[in-house]
Amino acid sequence: MSESLAHRAAGDAPGTLLARLDELRAADLPVHGGRTMAYVYDSGLPGIEELAAAAHARFAGVNGLDMTAFPSVVALENDLVGAASRLLGGTAATAGTFTSGGTESCLLAVLTAREHARRTRGVDAPEVLLPETAHAAFHKAAALFGLRAVTVPVDPATHRVRAADVAAALTGRTALVVVSAPSYAHGVIDPVAEVAAAAAARGVLCHVDACIGGWYLGHLRRAGDAPEVPPFDLSVPGVSSLSVDLHKYGYTPKGASVLLLRDAELRRHGWFAHASWPGYPVVNATLQGTKSAGLLAAAWAVVRHIGTDGYTELSRRVHRATGDLVRGIGALDGLRVLGPPDASLIAVAADEPALDVFVVADEIREAGWYLQPQPAYGASPATLHLTVTAAVAGEKSVARLLDALAAAVGRARQRGPAVVSPELRAAAAALDPEALTPEEVDVALELAGIGRSGALPERMAPVLAVVQAMPPRLTERLLPEVIGRLYRTAE
Ligand SMILES: *Cc1c(COP(=O)(O)O)cnc(C)c1O
Repeated sequence: MSESLAHRAAGDAPGTLLARLDELRAADLPVHGGRTMAYVYDSGLPGIEELAAAAHARFAGVNGLDMTAFPSVVALENDLVGAASRLLGGTAATAGTFTSGGTESCLLAVLTAREHARRTRGVDAPEVLLPETAHAAFHKAAALFGLRAVTVPVDPATHRVRAADVAAALTGRTALVVVSAPSYAHGVIDPVAEVAAAAAARGVLCHVDACIGGWYLGHLRRAGDAPEVPPFDLSVPGVSSLSVDLHKYGYTPKGASVLLLRDAELRRHGWFAHASWPGYPVVNATLQGTKSAGLLAAAWAVVRHIGTDGYTELSRRVHRATGDLVRGIGALDGLRVLGPPDASLIAVAADEPALDVFVVADEIREAGWYLQPQPAYGASPATLHLTVTAAVAGEKSVARLLDALAAAVGRARQRGPAVVSPELRAAAAALDPEALTPEEVDVALELAGIGRSGALPERMAPVLAVVQAMPPRLTERLLPEVIGRLYRTAE
């Protein structure tokens, strides 16, 4: 650990601290400029971050825990929920909640459905029905809230769930069915209307995970030059809730998402109230207690400033750039685009055995771009994920990325794929993730190329190859160990 981070008894000067923060950031991926194609969303518009910071500063101390003490919170939240509802097929009855992010919106959708099923249908061993492409947040919800996650395979050609498969998996215990618009891994939209109809026919709730796509697709539809956007929102019969993240294509600071529900009667099932203690009476609409209204104010200011016309123009740009990238990547020797994508996310696979997309990712990272590796799973091959945001959407940026990708493919082909020895494969298959001792964990990580120091190697392809060769349950046992080592601070 470096000297300047160690605890000292005397406080540091603001200038020293800010300089240290800048220094730490130098090791991170850039959050501007469109070269980091996951995790960050850059509108490319001037003044947005300054506005967000100023709005945040005004509300940072306001506590969203008590909306009666801070009515400003209700006003801002109603405004944002209203904007999301108007964009995404809501009615006068639509209700909503501002949350800290997509994960919290998905958690609340599942919690709401569990309580709704228990209270209105007497379901006491609830299930949540998930296409295998559903976001991890829904598995987290099932784990946290005690539902059984029932996964449904997707069509291996289109990566969309088939409505008939969902219908066949519905039981009297199903509390919620989830569809994605679009899915993160492949960027394709599930058949929302068919699945929602099948769920409704059994009296089951249906949630649309439009966390990443909702704000973009809603405005793209408004732009009118993408007639191919299929129906995906609350206007679809049978859809009972929808999540949309503002901190993605709303380009707000991180910590902003909206959960929409068909009405307040459904929403109440996800709220928590407590009056059986000697303290203040509690009503929590989210998982948090005390929460700064700073993020709410920042999101509100950015959404109102960019405005519907502004977002519509940004969506047009992203749509064009995505199309250019899809065509350009499709024309590159050795790569193919899965899907085709329905929104602004692109999944790229290798088209020849000598080419390893994880090696491509390492190569292009050295050239200054971050494409996100996604290990093979089920019928889905290993892919690279690209989230296309407005900052990528210049003709020049698209051309530069395609050139860099072509060069990276050339170098990756020369290097050859990362290989995993058959012995390691066999050892991984033989391990019981539940029964691993700490010593066995050490050995397994050593084999995977991660030493005791916890430092991650420069090139990730060999590690990802091992991850891909391991059963997912083993990966789930080992990954927290790897990350845990990063956090070991004892000196
Ligand atoms: C981002 C995302 C989520 C989870 O959201 P976080 O904001 O990362 O918590 C859920 N579903 C999809 C499809 C997403 O892309």
